[in-house]
Amino acid sequence: MNTKNPTYDFTGKVAFVTGASSGMGLAAARAFAEAGAAVGLADINENAVTAAVKDLTDAEYQALSLVCDVSDEAQVAAAVDRTVETFGRLDMAYNNAGIMPPPTDAADEPADQFDRVQNINLRGIWAAMKHELRHMREQGHGAIVNCSSLGGLVGNPGRAAYHASKHGVIGLTKSAALEYGSRGVRINAVCPGTISTPMVDTMLANGELDSDQAAAGQAIDRLGTADEIAQAVLWLSSTGASYVTGIALPVDGGYTAQ
Ligand code: NAP
Repeated sequence: MNTKNPTYDFTGKVAFVTGASSGMGLAAARAFAEAGAAVGLADINENAVTAAVKDLTDAEYQALSLVCDVSDEAQVAAAVDRTVETFGRLDMAYNNAGIMPPPTDAADEPADQFDRVQNINLRGIWAAMKHELRHMREQGHGAIVNCSSLGGLVGNPGRAAYHASKHGVIGLTKSAALEYGSRGVRINAVCPGTISTPMVDTMLANGELDSDQAAAGQAIDRLGTADEIAQAVLWLSSTGASYVTGIALPVDGGYTAQ
C-alpha cells in the first residue's frame, strides 16, 4: 500500500464511488485510494472504468472495476455487493454519477428527457444509497456522500429537470440521515458549483456556458476543480466530520452566498 494523502488515513477501509471514471467521481476515487482505502469504481463506460482502475492498480492501490448503469437498481445492487464481497466491508460511498441534459424551455421539455435525468441523477442515488445502507446497517457504521449541485439549492432558467433531480437528492439525503443518525451511519450531500470536468467541457463546447461568465458568477472568480470537490467528499467521509449529518454542503466558490 502506498498512502500519499497527508490529511486522511483510510487504511483498511473500503469506499464505493459511482460515475467513477471521469470528472469528480474519478478524482474522489483516486483521493480515497491515495488515503489508503480499497475502492470499488462503478461507471457505465466500460473502457473508461477499466482504464481508471488500471491506473490505480498500476500505482499499487486496491481498486475494482464495476460496469454499472445507476438507473438500473439490479446493476447498482450487484456493484455494491461485489465491492463488499471483494474487499470485505463498506465504510464510505460517494454516489456521484449524473448527467446534464441540454437546456430546454420548461414548456417544451420532452417527457423522456425529464425521465432520463431523474432515473440517473435521482433514482440512481436512491438505489445506490439503498444498497449501501443494507451493508452499513449490518455493520453499524458508514458514511455516505450524495452528489447534489448548486442546482439542488437554487433554480436556473432552462434547467428545470436537472435542478429538480438535484433538489431531490437533498431530500433523500436529509430524510435518510435522520433515519440513520442513531444507527451509526452519516449521510450528507455535496453541492458543487461550476467545476471543470468533461461535463462542463461539453457545455462550453456546445455554447451552453460561457467560461468567463461562469467564473464571474462566484466570489472566487474561477471554476472549481474536481480535486476540490474530492477533498470535501473525503472530509465528509472522515472522522473529522463525525458530528456532521444531513447537510447539503456547497463547494461553489461562494456562488450560493449571494
Ligand atoms: P462527468 O465528467 O460527465 O462524469 C460523470 C461520469 O458518470 C461519467 O463517467 C459518465 O459516463 C458516468 N455516468 C453517466 N451516466 C451514468 C449512469 N447511468 N450510470 C453510471 N455512470 C454514469 O461529470 P462530472 O462533472 O464529474 O459530474 C459528476 C456529478 O457532479 C454529476 O452528478 C453532476 O450532475 C454533478 N455536478 C457537476 C457539476 C459540474 O460543474 N461539473 C456541478 C454540480 C454537480 P459517460 O461519460 O460515459 O456518460
